[in-house]
Amino acid sequence: MGARVAVVGGGVAGVTTALVLGRLDVDVTLFEKSHSLVSGPPFCHLHAGGNLYREISDSQCLKLLEQSIDFARFYPYVVDYRPTVIATPKSDPSDPSDLIPRLLMLKEEYEKIVQNDPNSAVLGPPEHYFTLYEKEDLKKLIELQPTTEPKSADEWMIPVAGELDIENLKFPVVLVQEYGLNLFRLGAGVALALSAMKNVQLKTSTEVKEIRAGTEGWRVEWTEHGRELCSSFDYLVNAAGFKTAELEAIAGIYSERMIEFKAAYITKWKTPWQWPEIIFHGERGTPRGMGQFTPYPGGYFQLHGMTKEITLFNEGLARPRGGLMPPKLPENFEKKIERGWEWSEVQKRTEAAISHIARFIPSFKTAETASVPLFGAQQIPGDDPTLRVAEVEFPAARYARCEIVKVSSSLDMAEAIVRDMQREGVLQSIVPSIAFPHANVPHERALGALAARLAKERGYPIEVSRRSRFEPL
Ligand SMILES: Cc1cc2nc3c(=O)[nH]c(=O)nc-3n(C[C@H](O)[C@H](O)[C@H](O)COP(=O)(O)OP(=O)(O)OC[C@H]3O[C@@H](n4cnc5c(N)ncnc54)[C@H](O)[C@@H]3O)c2cc1C
Repeated sequence: MGARVAVVGGGVAGVTTALVLGRLDVDVTLFEKSHSLVSGPPFCHLHAGGNLYREISDSQCLKLLEQSIDFARFYPYVVDYRPTVIATPKSDPSDPSDLIPRLLMLKEEYEKIVQNDPNSAVLGPPEHYFTLYEKEDLKKLIELQPTTEPKSADEWMIPVAGELDIENLKFPVVLVQEYGLNLFRLGAGVALALSAMKNVQLKTSTEVKEIRAGTEGWRVEWTEHGRELCSSFDYLVNAAGFKTAELEAIAGIYSERMIEFKAAYITKWKTPWQWPEIIFHGERGTPRGMGQFTPYPGGYFQLHGMTKEITLFNEGLARPRGGLMPPKLPENFEKKIERGWEWSEVQKRTEAAISHIARFIPSFKTAETASVPLFGAQQIPGDDPTLRVAEVEFPAARYARCEIVKVSSSLDMAEAIVRDMQREGVLQSIVPSIAFPHANVPHERALGALAARLAKERGYPIEVSRRSRFEPL
């Protein structure tokens, strides 16, 4: 029998760890307190270059590019292959040309990655990684009829040119191959793949109450359908998301981290066109904070607005408290996570999000609230809230603390865990690095049906469990 590994938490970090370990000679038990997997904070964007974040370093952007390529190769069924447009409003003090050196650096790096391994060309041909549009270019596109099946950068830009208030923008506007991610398809796909693995025990509706270090491994106590149970494991992976530090405090492990609560809003809008994602840059936390317009099939759009009235919240960022005390969000946020939102607040914030985006797409003012928001709390290791790349730490023997802040970091994280298990002697055999494409890609019909069921159970329109495009440009 292989070593026994406990993974606490069935978010992206926990399920990716279980998928990777499930192919090795170990017995994995995955504990998740919700009744389905991947039910934590949402994700909709593959940060293949970090172009949404002007404030981060070039090295974080390069890491996000590399990790996103691996993520798209490992989870091909999760990616919605539609590009992202980055627009800088006139109200923003920055110069959009400042984005160009970084885009060139990313394109060059992507070329190198593809030269080393042509299977990594998941963002399309490197020469098309980004395209710049001047005002004159958009004016020419206004004349053209939009298409429901865009096949080139220009075709994606036709509705942008036609519907955006281009007098309100600075130029150039950028189209970049950063794609969408579908969290419902990820939740469904991993549930199907993990249930087919004989050495993975999936324990949903199961809450881990206590973890304690033993002489050679960990003792874990949990409640499962009202019963209190415990067992010993040779290795423990803490992938409990924003509850990571609370669980560690029980075991006497200290970790400096923050917790941030954020939300994105689901709207319905009558539009016949196939839209790209659009980012309207703006200073975070101010009334003109960045706006993010994310398309789903069927006329559904998810909106972020980086203002306190939309995505961010007063007291929504809990800072480290020192000592063994884990960071703590005010109670109303935990209440939202456990019991949901008041409908009046859903409407107020969704309407604010619609107005935020309608400043740039005037016809979008007719959009309506479609459902409860996508929301949740996430941990951010350290004390820098702009950190976008983190993977995993090993602060105790035979113990891994997952720390991802973007889902694309989950494969580097899982690989580091495998290496640590080898160092600790928990894994004896030589382990190959993560294989692509993932061997457990589920059958499309079962995956689509389960993704739709997850969306419905959680109160979202089933269209948001679908993706519009199956192939890169
Ligand atoms: C509004 C918003 C938008 C975002 N957008 C993006 C995006 O576009 N792209 C991107 O890459 N990232 C995005 N993120 C970040 C992304 O959501 C997180 O990085 C990621 O989901 C973290 O995954 P995780 O597995 O570490 O944690 P989680 O998803 O929180 O998983 C932890 C799991 O552990 C379970 N758990 C906790 N305690 C216990 C216990 N005691 N016993 C059993 N189970 C337990 C929880 O129920 C949960 O399912 C966004 C975050 C927010 C808040």
